[in-house]
Amino acid sequence: MIEVIDAWLRLAASRLHQQAPALTALDQAIGDGDHGTNMNRGFTAIVTFLDAGTPEGDGERAKAAVLLRGAGRTLISTVGGAAGPLYGTALIRAGAATAAADGAPASEVALAALEAATGGIQGLGKSTTGEKTMLDALVPAARAGREAQSAGSDWPVIAEAMAAAAEAGAAATIPLLATKGRASYLGERSIGHQDPGATSAALLLRALADVAAGQTT
Ligand code: ADP
Ligand code: MG
Repeated sequence: MIEVIDAWLRLAASRLHQQAPALTALDQAIGDGDHGTNMNRGFTAIVTFLDAGTPEGDGERAKAAVLLRGAGRTLISTVGGAAGPLYGTALIRAGAATAAADGAPASEVALAALEAATGGIQGLGKSTTGEKTMLDALVPAARAGREAQSAGSDWPVIAEAMAAAAEAGAAATIPLLATKGRASYLGERSIGHQDPGATSAALLLRALADVAAGQTT
């Protein structure tokens, strides 16, 4: 489990580095043009944190929880924009859910972690779906993951369902009116652009699906 989380965060960091200009361009259209820079800075710091070594912890799940919490704290302390505290809180909540789900199969741990993460974002952001935010990718992803799990799918298929739903959710933010975050200041002018945070959320879940499928680059 630690290996999966480590590989996921590293793959996400390298993709965010590549995609930083594209994420920033999306944020230039409806925000302040820093989302790519923010995510790249935060995940570069996460890689430095990972390089510092495997965390202490009593058992596999406890170590995984420490890793996720540390990554979340790293984002909060290195990213000034809204996305840093939101994703940071999401990772910290995912860590707590991972520790609590001790004994459950890996896919159940991942789903519980994603659900806890979205709950953390909703609480901190006072936001919900349909407001043109990262939640429009993350909430459908969690739902699709649960559906795949109920259908008896194994972990790589569940992770693929989550990534595909997040990508569809990100694309579906284009016609939405932003009512949270900086994009909401634009009012009607936010319509017609894809939300940067929903786009980075889809990138994160695509990286997780690729790690689940055994791909590391
Ligand atoms: P900032 O808006 O401070 O410049 P970023 O550009 O890094 O921060 O992140 C912007 C993204 O954060 C948005 O595209 C949106 O997805 C997300 N976001 C902003 N406010 C909220 C909120 N209240 N709830 C959920 N997500 C939000
Ligand atoms: Mg911004």
